[in-house]
Amino acid sequence: MLLDNHNRPINYLRLAVTDRCNLRCHYCMPEHGLQWLSRADLLSYEEMLRLCRILIGLGINKVRITGGEPFVRKDLMKFLTELSRIEGLQQINLTTNGVVTAPLVPELKKIGIRSVNLSLDTLDRERFFQITRRDELPQVMATMDALLQHDIVVKINAVVMDGQNTDDIVPLAKMTKDLPVDVRFIEEMPFNGGDHFNARPLWDYTRILDTLRQEWPDLEKIPDPPFSTSMNYQIPGHAGTVGIIAAWSRTFCGTCNRIRVTPQGVLKTCLYDHGVLNLRDLMREGLCDAALTDHLLLAFNHRHKNGWDAEEARRGVPVEESMATIGG
Ligand code: SAM
Ligand code: SF4
Repeated sequence: MLLDNHNRPINYLRLAVTDRCNLRCHYCMPEHGLQWLSRADLLSYEEMLRLCRILIGLGINKVRITGGEPFVRKDLMKFLTELSRIEGLQQINLTTNGVVTAPLVPELKKIGIRSVNLSLDTLDRERFFQITRRDELPQVMATMDALLQHDIVVKINAVVMDGQNTDDIVPLAKMTKDLPVDVRFIEEMPFNGGDHFNARPLWDYTRILDTLRQEWPDLEKIPDPPFSTSMNYQIPGHAGTVGIIAAWSRTFCGTCNRIRVTPQGVLKTCLYDHGVLNLRDLMREGLCDAALTDHLLLAFNHRHKNGWDAEEARRGVPVEESMATIGG
């Protein structure tokens, strides 16, 4: 088992395959998008597969493909097929905004994808447009239907934003009545590509929980799976569950089992660090697998204890990069 310097197992890689996206969510990037990475700056699929092989050899057994929007990168399905063939990899999960995903669901099922996180911050079409700056809610709902029809586990990610979608907390949670979905409310983080951000989110996990408890006073705490970032609850009688991810409050650092590789191949051992190793440059300098492994192990041995320490170590570099460039 791969352990960090705080004795935490590391077995989960979040790999961002692109920074590009077909939505422009307020909390993630500016209206005009980001300064997109050039193709040469991005890791190639071959480089990603090489890294995955090395990391899986070291003890990673779960990989989440994210971005940007993973499905806007060409040939993603071919890459997923190759990835699924790596021995030792037990799970591939995906995070998607669902805009172009629905027609690909049968193929995802064939590849062996068992769980997908779908981002959905509101059930109201006009509000969806205001938040994402695109009118794509029907496509996202079609993806949710297709995933459920194919028995793929659906986790809904909803970022809670003051003045924007707090009225959606209850309607989104009500989806769990008949649908076997896990709806997880996420504290907004400052990773928005440089727009203004309050020092702390006005809606933290306690306020989200209060809102749920006001509607359902008999909300039951249920056990959280190992390494879970969400605090999980059951509304009695509902088919699905609700959860809260205290992404800004950072309540889960003590059991953090995850690392990230950004679209440009930078290793992050904490969401809040500023990148600890440029794997792309090392690979392009011609390092062999054994030398890359040494660099990786050294980085895992210098992991920050928690997101507060990681943020502190940025020495004034503000936390304002986009989630799309770090693998949310
Ligand atoms: N495009 C895909 C999607 O939206 O599902 C995958 C990438 S997106 C960066 C991954 C997750 O990060 C999404 O669920 C999104 O809601 C979340 N996210 C993005 N910016 C965030 C922020 N500033 N605070 C909290 N969550 C954020
Ligand atoms: Fe795109 Fe996902 Fe960021 Fe929204 S959260 S802009 S869908 S990368």
